[in-house]
Parts: sequence; C-alpha cells; structure tokens
Amino acid sequence: MAILNFKHMPIHNPQIECMSLLKQKAMQLKLLKKTLQFAYDKSPFYKNKFKGAEVSPKNFKTLDDIRKFPFTTKYDILDHNDEFLTKPKNKMLRVFSSSGTTTKGKFFYLDSKDYDEYLKCCVDCFYGIGLRSGDDIVSIMIHLGLTVAGIGIGVMSFQKMGVLAIPFGLVSDAKLAASYMKQIGSNVIYGATAQVCSFTEELQKMKYNLKQEFNIEKMIVSGSILPPRLRHNLEQAWGAEVYETYGTSEAGRTGFECQYHNGFHTFPNYVYFEFLDEKTGQPVKDGERGDIVFTILKRDSMPLIRYKINDIAAFSTKKCKCGRTSLRILGPLARAEERIVFKGFYKLYDHQINEVLHNYQDVSFDWQILIEDEEGKNTFTLKIETEKATTKTKKAIEADLIRCCESVSRGVVSGNILPPKVDFIKQGTLERNPLRKIRNRIVDKRKYKFY
Ligand SMILES: [Zn+2]
Repeated sequence: MAILNFKHMPIHNPQIECMSLLKQKAMQLKLLKKTLQFAYDKSPFYKNKFKGAEVSPKNFKTLDDIRKFPFTTKYDILDHNDEFLTKPKNKMLRVFSSSGTTTKGKFFYLDSKDYDEYLKCCVDCFYGIGLRSGDDIVSIMIHLGLTVAGIGIGVMSFQKMGVLAIPFGLVSDAKLAASYMKQIGSNVIYGATAQVCSFTEELQKMKYNLKQEFNIEKMIVSGSILPPRLRHNLEQAWGAEVYETYGTSEAGRTGFECQYHNGFHTFPNYVYFEFLDEKTGQPVKDGERGDIVFTILKRDSMPLIRYKINDIAAFSTKKCKCGRTSLRILGPLARAEERIVFKGFYKLYDHQINEVLHNYQDVSFDWQILIEDEEGKNTFTLKIETEKATTKTKKAIEADLIRCCESVSRGVVSGNILPPKVDFIKQGTLERNPLRKIRNRIVDKRKYKFY
C-alpha cells in the first residue's frame, strides 16, 4: 500500500484519507447507491422498512436523498435482529454483541469479506496513531468476549499489523499485569477508558512510579468519554501520549485522533455520517452539534442504513494539519442516553457535568445523578465519588452547575428546576459493570419525566 510521508507520521491510506471533498462525495454517492440497493434486495428487514416508508433505492439520486430513507434504531435490531441478515448465520465469520441495557442481545454479524474490510479500517486507525510492526508491543486491557473492541478490533487488528499484543482482557490482578508488562517490555496500552484509568489508579495506590518503572509511550482508549483532566492525569502518570478512538459495536473502530488531537478522523469509504439537528432533523453546519446518524458502506452481511447511534457531536470537513481531509468528529462527544431532559425541554449532557468537575482536582469523574420530583418541580442531586473534597468545594460545584450549564440556569431561573445539590460519597461506592464503567449514570425517580 502506498504510504505518504507527512511530518514523520505517514498516512496509511492517503488515497482515501487525503481525498478531496468533491471526490469523497462522488465516491460516497456511488457506494450509498450500491448499499441501499443491496440492503433492499437482500435484507428482509430493509425490504419491509423501505416499503413501509414508501421509498426505493431508485429514489436515491443525490446525497441529500438519503434523508428520504427511514432511520434504523437499536430497537429495530433488538426486535428484528435476524431479519437484517443477508445470508445464513453459518456463512458468517464473526459475531459481536453490544453491551445493551436489556438481557436480550443485539448481535452484529460479519462474513469474511466484511470482516476484512472492517479490519482494514481498524488498521488504518492504529497506523494513524503511530503503531508499527517491529516497534510496538501492546497491552490489551479490554473485555475479550463478545464485545467488539477486544478480539474483534484489538487482537485481530494488531495481528494483521504484525504488532505483538499481550491480551490481558479485563485485568483482575493489576500487580501481576504490571509485572508481565515490564517483563515483556510493553510500550503501548490499548484499552477501555474506565479500565485503563482504574488500572492506573490501582498501581498508583501501590506506589508504583509509572513513568520511571515502565516505558509506556502511547495509550489508546475508547468506550467512554475521556474528560480532559483524566487525559492529563494519565499522560502525567505514565509520561505517555493519550489517543482516543471513536467506535461502536455496530460500525467498529471508525475514528481516531491523529498527532494533532483535532477530533476523530473518519473514513469516507467505510461510513457515511450525517449530523442532524435534534429538533428539526435537518443537517447541521460544520462546527455545530447534532445527532450522529451513520450508514455503513460496503457491508453486505448485515447492512445498517441511517443508524441512530444516540451520540451527539459536531463535525468538521476542514483539512487537518496532518494532511487528512476526511470528516472529523469533534468533541466533546455526548451520549443521548445520558442526556437528562428536565420538564420536557431543559437538557443537560454528561460532558457538561465533566466540564464543571474539570476545575476541581479533589473530585473524581465518577458520578451519578439522581432526579426526583418535588412539588411539581424537578430536583437533581449529583453524587460524586471523592476521598478528600470539602464542603467549600461542594458549594462551589453547586454554584457552577447553575452558572456553567445553561439549561440548569434557565430551569432554576424559571422555577422549573430546584437548585442542584451535590453529595460527596466515598470512592468506589457507585455500582460498576464488569468493564468498570459506572452502571447507571442517571437514576430517574420522577413520576412524570416529560411534562
Ligand atoms: Zn489530523
């Protein structure tokens, strides 16, 4: 594959990553046409869905026409999983499931051709972050089961790249993992954000001097949003550079940060992204925030058309300093499922809470919000895990939640929301899932959520 040298950080796939916007659009038009037709012909779910919406692939003539087609949601996959498939399951090569909130799984299947495409995209991401065969040894700290990020992305991509990987999976014994990392000489950590942070904290508690005792140069994290202070803490602790990647169980690893950390670079030949206004459903402009909707291109086994992933972010089509022209997803990324709607219209996002907490060194980003009703008004209590924060800090955070979060301020001024309360709780109190993420960020005990 051609490699273009650019400021010592070569681009793996310059034909795609540095393609002009005009060419990208022409390519995506072609690929979308093919994708829609294939889905309509081969996937029973899309045949029905398109018919129900009275659209046909023949209606697709320009990129804007994609908006004539219906959205796909996670509930479609939960309810009609097998109908999405274009071939029998025994003709597939891999199955992933996403960590859903229900006991019923959402499964994503790939045949060997699709899996190869999928891995190519992951390899381009890791190459863009600077991993090289012969230079790097990666410690994988992520669940290795059915979730996509462990075996599907990590193990197999590093194998394809010829990069040695140590598949720790979920680290249950930090001391042992640390000793193996030293013995084998790992210089990269790839893992779930929550797990990498908790591994780091555990070693720090055991008084390891991470910078001196290890030689970690890069940390690649994904899975949950990394607030800037946590990124800074990780970088300081290990003396390493942190790279975030953007991925989903549905699409795979589809975005990565280059050396300039200017958002997530994506691949125009692999995923078609739309960013839509929450209220109107119309496309937002460059730099504005909108709901992310994507269509996976070139995937035959289980097509996904206009999938509403429930993430909110802005985008940019401006050329990055690294030379790439591909669309970038700009943070802070917010999960719509972690968006709180007070009284039907005051919206609070998880990243806004993190932005407030960023200024308080003594508190962690391990928090949970409890929302309740009180005499027709919404109340919320922010429970934050901390070991040493004071009452003064508590009052300051309460004031900042009103000052910095516009929706809270409007709600409080109008009398629909009571001033927020902060409650400090002991570190480790909130329930975690096996991936060490807080299990419920939002506990909503309101009787009427949207009145
Ligand atoms: Zn870049």
